[in-house]
Amino acid sequence: MSKSLFSETPLSTAILENLSSLGYETMTDIQAQTLPLILDGKDVIGQGKTGSGKTAAFSLGILHNLNVDRFRVQAIVVCPTRELADQVAVEIRKLARAIHNIKVLTLCGGAPMGPQIGSLEHGAHIVVGTPGRIEEHLVKGRLSLDEVNTFVLDEADRMLEMGFEDSIQCIVEHCPAQRQNLLFSATYPQGIEKLCQHIMKAPEKVVVESKH
Ligand code: ADP
Ligand code: MG
Repeated sequence: MSKSLFSETPLSTAILENLSSLGYETMTDIQAQTLPLILDGKDVIGQGKTGSGKTAAFSLGILHNLNVDRFRVQAIVVCPTRELADQVAVEIRKLARAIHNIKVLTLCGGAPMGPQIGSLEHGAHIVVGTPGRIEEHLVKGRLSLDEVNTFVLDEADRMLEMGFEDSIQCIVEHCPAQRQNLLFSATYPQGIEKLCQHIMKAPEKVVVESKH
């Protein structure tokens, strides 16, 4: 099978040039199968092994829809651990290099509150974080998700293992009903289906066995 190129997608020239400068030319299998659906505005469940490139799939979807001139939170990525949230934020910043003045904020448990509260007062375009801490900022009224277009659950299987359903539900309820939902996971345990039913609208499901 011939490999799909990022340049065959509707991503902007600025994003494509940055991808090539990062050495990203061909899409991994999960990217080739999910990115077109994501760019088409669909809700997508993507299941693929660790290291298969899931982060770029949803991050490019977020960046494609983002209006940097509107300084409001337009996308939220929920991750099970602080370490994973930090990794995702690093990847998004790398992929967003071509977009000037973009602000990606991480909100993770275990990190001191003061700086997060300060950063929230300044604002952000994209929030990446862990469920409990995001929920805490929402409940205290420090974070508004009223203008979120894209809601992402990364590593959903681990999120279930850690018992984050209630926090996830709370976050979703703070987002507009009309939004795109993307859920990525390495495995698809029982329980994800139920979570998806609460969050997603007629999702397209993509399962990729290989790593590349
Ligand atoms: P996953 O979330 O599926 O475990 P990641 O998104 O962390 O995987 O990606 C694994 C690695 O592959 C990262 O270092 C990322 O920079 C790299 N990568 C992702 N997509 C591509 C691509 N299309 N071309 C080259 N490298 C890529
Ligand atoms: Mg990942």
